[in-house]
Formats: sequence, C-alpha cells, structure tokens
Amino acid sequence: MKHGSTTPVIRVLDQATVNKIAAGEVVERPASVVKELVENAIDAGARSIRIEVLSSRTDITSVRVTDDGAGMSPSDALLAFTPHATSKIVGITDLDTIRTMGFRGEALASIAAVSRVTLFTRPNNDDLAAGTRIVIAGGDVIENVPVGAPGGTSVLVEDLFYNTPARKKFQKTRNTELAHIHDMLEGIFLANPKIAFRLSVNGSELVVTDKSPSSLDTIARIFGTAVVRDLVPVTGSGSLLKITGHISRPSLSRKDHARIFIAINGRYVSSPAITNAIKEGYGTLLPKDRFPVAFLSLETGTGLVDVNVHPTKKLVRISREPEITRAVCDAIRDALSGHDLIPDIRSGPALAPAITTGTSLPEQSRPYIYSSIQPGIVSEPTHTGTTATDRQLRQTELAAGPVPAGSLPPLRVIGEFGGIYILATTETGELLVIDQHAAHERILYELAGRKDGKEKRVQELIAPVILHRTPRESAILADLLPALAEEGFHIEEFGRDTFVVRAIPVVLGKLEDTSLLEDIISDVTSPERGQRVDNRERITRIVACRGAIKAGTVCTQEQCQRVADQLRLTKNPFTCPHGRPTMVRFSKVDLDGMFKRT
Ligand code: ADP
Ligand code: MG
Repeated sequence: MKHGSTTPVIRVLDQATVNKIAAGEVVERPASVVKELVENAIDAGARSIRIEVLSSRTDITSVRVTDDGAGMSPSDALLAFTPHATSKIVGITDLDTIRTMGFRGEALASIAAVSRVTLFTRPNNDDLAAGTRIVIAGGDVIENVPVGAPGGTSVLVEDLFYNTPARKKFQKTRNTELAHIHDMLEGIFLANPKIAFRLSVNGSELVVTDKSPSSLDTIARIFGTAVVRDLVPVTGSGSLLKITGHISRPSLSRKDHARIFIAINGRYVSSPAITNAIKEGYGTLLPKDRFPVAFLSLETGTGLVDVNVHPTKKLVRISREPEITRAVCDAIRDALSGHDLIPDIRSGPALAPAITTGTSLPEQSRPYIYSSIQPGIVSEPTHTGTTATDRQLRQTELAAGPVPAGSLPPLRVIGEFGGIYILATTETGELLVIDQHAAHERILYELAGRKDGKEKRVQELIAPVILHRTPRESAILADLLPALAEEGFHIEEFGRDTFVVRAIPVVLGKLEDTSLLEDIISDVTSPERGQRVDNRERITRIVACRGAIKAGTVCTQEQCQRVADQLRLTKNPFTCPHGRPTMVRFSKVDLDGMFKRT
C-alpha cells in the first residue's frame, strides 16, 4: 500500500459488479439457473411447468422455463430484475412463516447480470391485462415492450456466464451439467406431485410428470414401476410435524443415500440429520453400509425451519432437530414393522438369478459367501449332525410367545435344498425360499438381544474354558469384558494373556467343543470392519452368527419346520441381523408367468 497517496484505496463497487458477485452465490452453474426459474414458477402457483434445455456439444446454450402461473404486470416485470425486489416478503419477520421457495429477490437480478434474459409474461387472472416482453443482457435493459402473450411467464436464459469467464471456465462437461440439472429437478418434481412437469433436452422429452395427489406416480415416472412395488407407505404425525411418503423394503437398498429424497414444507432439501434418522429407523434390517430408498415429505410449523442459511436454500437449519429426527426414525420403524417385507420376486430380478439368465446381479443382491457347498448334491442328514442341530433348535425354542403383528403367515415346509434353503408354502399359496442360516441367525439375534430375564440367559460351564490370546488381542478382550458380561459371557483375566471362561449365553446351547467359543472371541477381538455399532450390539450379532445353524448343515424336514415356526415369532423375520434377506417369495402368479401360463 502506498502511504501518503491521496487516491482513495477503498471504493464502493458499482451496482453491476455487485450483481455479478451476488450472482456467483446464487447461480453457480446452469442447474442453479434452472432451479431458481422453476422455483419462481412454483411460487407463482403454476399447475404445469415446462423446462427446455438446449446444448451444444460442449455447453448448455440456453434454458427456458415456461409456466401457467400468476404472471406479472408490465411494471412488476421490470421490477422483478431489480436486486432484492421480491413480492414474497415484506420484512424479516415474514421469514418465520415463509411458504414460498424464493424470498431473497436475488435470482432474476443475478441471472440477468451474467447472461441474456428474455422474459414474456402476462397476468393470468385478467384477460384484458397487457403482456410484456423484456430483454436484459448483462444487467442492462435492452428492450421492454408490450406484446401479446399467454397468461403466465416464460423466461429464456442464453449466453450464460458470457461476461464472467472464470465462472464459465469452471463449468464441467456438458453431460455433467445436464446431470446436475436432472438430479436437481428430480428433487423438485418429487416434492411437488401436484404440478405437471416436462423436461426436454435438445427437443427430446426426458421426464414428464402428471398432476397427481400422490408422489407415487411421480416416483414411478422417474424411477420406474419396479421401484414402486418395493415401497411401503410411511405416515406419522405428532405435535411438531406430519410425515408422509414411501420407503423401500429392505430388499431394495443402495450403497449411497442418493435415493433418499426429503422435502420439508414442499421444499426439497438435503439434511444429513434426517437421512441418518431414516437409516436408523431400519435398525438391523439393513447392513450398516447400505442405504434405503426413501421419499419423505415433512410438514412442520414454518417457524421450525430456517431456510435462510444458504443462498440456494438447499441446506436448511431445523430447530428442535432431536425431536424431529426421533419422529422420523419412529415413523420409519412403524412403517417397516407394519408391513410385509418379503422381497417381491417380480421387483427384484436379482433375487431369481437362475430365471433371469444372462443378466448380471444388481448390487442389492449381495449373495452370501458359502464355503464348499454343492447344492447339486443330494445329502441325507447324518445322525450326529441331526442331534447337534436339534440341540441348537432347542435353545431357540425359547422364542415362543405371541406372534408379532405384521409378521409372517403360517408356513408349511415342503422341502430343503442344498443344505441351505428351506422351501415352504403359505396358506395363500405362495412359495417361500428361506435361507436357513440367515433365518436362524435372526432368531438367535432377537433372543440374545432380549433385555428381559437377564439371569436366565447365562449358563455356567461345567468345566471352565481357558483361552490364550496374543498380547494385542488380550488388550482388546480385556476392554470388552464388561460388554461381554452384559451379553452373558463371564470371562476373567487369568494371568498373562490368558482368560478363563466360566459362563456363556444360554442361546449358544451346550458347549460341545470349545471351537465355537474360540471363534466368537476371535470375531470379537478382530478389528471392526465397516460396521459402526456399539460393542454389545456387535457381540450380539457375532453370537447370533456363530451360534446359528450353518449353511450346508442338512436338516430334517421337522427341523426345517421348527426353523420356520421360530422365525415367525421374531419381530423382524425378513432380514438377518446384517440386513441380508432371510427369504424370497414366489407367488403362483409369478411362477405362472415364468412358465408362460398367463
Ligand atoms: P424471489 O423469488 O426471491 O422473490 P426472484 O428474483 O426470483 O426473487 O423474483 C423476483 C420477483 O419476480 C418474485 O418475487 C416474483 O414476484 C416475480 N417473479 C419471478 N418469476 C416469476 C414467475 N415465473 N411468475 C410470476 N412472477 C414471477
Ligand atoms: Mg425466486
């Protein structure tokens, strides 16, 4: 800095520069332009909105949004481009009750500062009112004339970022920008089922939605009817909020949360807290690293949501977040416990790989890895095997109690396949294929996790078992002793790197040989992979997995029936504690279809 100079260093920026800077916040990329224009159309009460995008090989060249909403008078049309000109709020207190998408009055001014905008508009409620055409380039009004126009508004944006080369250069490839537009619009379409949308790119129509009272139609339009078949409805209402929407059965899951759509008061938002609450609602129905598909709409008092924390309003601040996330989690849990969660074979071609030959397994069908099992070989149960299985099943017979609501219908076992799968039918004539290990794992898990009658769950070992561990494992095990004790393992340190086991959970049955115990302790002390659950939960799952009848154990028909009967008594019969399915279903109609009997 030059001292002593009389030229002022600080100056007030001219309005054009201010607008360009502001534009950087609101219109980052072509998708933000589309978002602002579509939100304006929604705010104008449009029943149908058309979005037309044109592109060259490298760039998005123009965006036009046309609505049949309220339209604007000639004077309003010009005012709309003035920074901080808005019809939606008068003062700051209005923000507490805001129901419109926009309110900052920045979008049109910002867009016009960095592009060439052509606006056609005419008030919709007045046949005699004049239409207006305004052309603005780089913030300067080039044309403002009365014209005939249909009621509503159409905004055409061309030459985007022509005068902000840095921002223009920042644009990714045409396809990336198109993908952003598409993704952003999906959220808006889903949050506004009562509006008919059409999106076209270079003249071809990509998405068309109809006016509909329910978002299910929109979901089907965007994601296909197969997804809809795998959804169950969610409803919840409390003093703070009302929740509606649809979520996937556990059989439909994804490796990311890109298909979790949340709308709050009609605004599509991203909320990590609510996303987590949804995931939490699934509990053990989904593996820790999988996410459901969900379309949720939350209606709350407007005072609870602060939308003015981010220029594009995608992130919102929610007050009383703990209560709201709890309500969401409860609603999800209720929705899942009240419904039939058996994966529907028609919606999951992956669940019938042998039938849809040639297709690769989609990601949601992550098969179990079985060791050395040859399903083709017909095996007979062996005597020692049968008595061992009987013992295991006797332990889980404890599960007897009332059949929980929303559970499995009575099942009749008709056979067994490959030492892995139990074949059963329901009264309604469906064929179920049950994974015996996964099913028994679920039964054991629920038993082991029961918080009641703790003392009954522990059995003293007649001969205590001595375990030797490496120093590293010993350190981990020593830390886990209290959690293990809570789960029924009474283990004491017994000198250096040695432990004595005096009691184990009843559900593990009579300890025939100590390898089961060795396995469990190895699992417990091995580093956690992926799953972030507390120690007790982890131990419960390990006990369930290790204690369950193994895949590959050939069971008698009577034993298969016991597994099926016990499974009926569980609260979540449809998945194992790791979230994999315990069964798939074929209805007679499905089978008829496969045999082309229809
Ligand atoms: P905001 O939406 O935050 O109010 P905008 O710059 O997006 O600010 O729009 C300014 C004003 O222009 C709006 O408040 C509204 O009155 C008017 N307007 C913009 N787009 C439309 C439209 N499609 N139909 C009717 N009025 C519109
Ligand atoms: Mg706006």
